[in-house]
Amino acid sequence: MNCNAEKLVLTRNGAITQCRGCQRIGFTYKNLLIGFDLDQFLGFSRFLSKVNFEKYCIRCSESPPYLIINTCHHDIQFALNREEFEEFKDMSQQARLMLEVLGILS
Ligand SMILES: [Zn+2]
Repeated sequence: MNCNAEKLVLTRNGAITQCRGCQRIGFTYKNLLIGFDLDQFLGFSRFLSKVNFEKYCIRCSESPPYLIINTCHHDIQFALNREEFEEFKDMSQQARLMLEVLGILS
């Protein structure tokens, strides 16, 4: 890949970048990097903003409750605990805001 990634969001556990050329979004969380088309990412971000952790999380006795998040790649899912999910969601909302601002400025 010869993408020219521009940082949109950077947190302790991840980053979201956009390529200046092809506009694709890279969502890094911990050591996983998922690529999205711009429209896919905006849909993903809107979806995350509506997810209710308490309602959909999986509870089992061995580990804290966690939530499975589907991505646009059918075989790749995130399994996030509550704290991770909040950070993940915040990152996506911040990136969406940044994309809106950049869209207005350009
Ligand atoms: Zn690119």
